[in-house]
Amino acid sequence: MTEVIIVGCGLSGIVLSRLLKKRGVESIILEKSKGVGGRIATRRIEDLGFDHGAPYLRADQALLDLLAEAGLETKSAVDPNGIYLRGGLNQFTKALSVDLTIHREKKVLKLSGQEVGWSVETEDGATYAGKKVILSAPLPQSLELLQRSGVPFHPKLSAVAYHKAILALVIAEASLFDRYQNSSVATVLPMEGRGLHPKGYVVTATEEFSEKNFDLPDLELLEKILPPASAHAVSHAEVKKWRYSRPVASLEDSFHECDGSLFLCGDAFLSPDATGALGSARALAERLTRSLGS
Ligand SMILES: Cc1cc2nc3c(=O)[nH]c(=O)nc-3n(C[C@H](O)[C@H](O)[C@H](O)COP(=O)(O)OP(=O)(O)OC[C@H]3O[C@@H](n4cnc5c(N)ncnc54)[C@H](O)[C@@H]3O)c2cc1C
Repeated sequence: MTEVIIVGCGLSGIVLSRLLKKRGVESIILEKSKGVGGRIATRRIEDLGFDHGAPYLRADQALLDLLAEAGLETKSAVDPNGIYLRGGLNQFTKALSVDLTIHREKKVLKLSGQEVGWSVETEDGATYAGKKVILSAPLPQSLELLQRSGVPFHPKLSAVAYHKAILALVIAEASLFDRYQNSSVATVLPMEGRGLHPKGYVVTATEEFSEKNFDLPDLELLEKILPPASAHAVSHAEVKKWRYSRPVASLEDSFHECDGSLFLCGDAFLSPDATGALGSARALAERLTRSLGS
């Protein structure tokens, strides 16, 4: 029986697990994908990177302290939109997750309450027992899991909606900058300045466009948001969709306690971004270490 099982290895799950470890509380993280970092994501194409999740982090003190803890100050850079990392933002979550116990490709399907704690079932048929379980996925996904498990939850949680996001990862010989200067459909971020793909661009569709067109096939989306391939010598273009990119608004609470052994945290709390995810994890770590008497 593990002390704490954390579902999700994004920033909030990682920070929570680190803080628990520092305070002597054992935790394991179950993550559905192969990688770590969740929505702080850098993808490789032609072995060169694209930041295709959050492009920036807010430069507040808690985040700067954490960057220093991860040993990444020298790679960090700031522009008017926030902080980014030369070499890709996922270095941040990767560095923070070293030394944590992470089980990858473990999609959690169901929770069952036990006499003590919870039993957690994953898609591959494995079962984990934990005294406490923390769900750190985007809130609608955590609520789906609770619903599937027959665990009731407070109705205010269902009110947190997330923006959808459609992005195109593009490799082009000619700069795409001019194309999007006055665009009402999308903005463009070159990857070169981040030490990523020198001819790589991340084109992000507006929230309005993403909401309206989310279910269109990739080819149709590319036709709508990209210039004709010939005009900019586009040699590669692919779509990335995030059904839950960031909350429209967050709850004021710093986390949610379903009962003394089941909690929800992440960017649905405190503020609808990575800063909220971080603050939520820190507050929950305090709460858990108090109750576990460490
Ligand atoms: C396109 C985009 C742009 C953004 N822009 C910004 C920005 O400019 N500034 C900013 O601060 N933030 C931005 N964000 C939001 C920011 O990325 C998030 O707020 C933050 O990364 C959330 O971290 P988290 O740990 O709460 O959740 P996540 O990073 O989503 O982590 C949750 C993890 O849970 C895993 N998971 C889900 N379900 C299960 C399951 N059943 N079993 C096991 N694992 C599961 C997921 O795979 C994921 O790894 C952006 C996000 C996107 C996608």
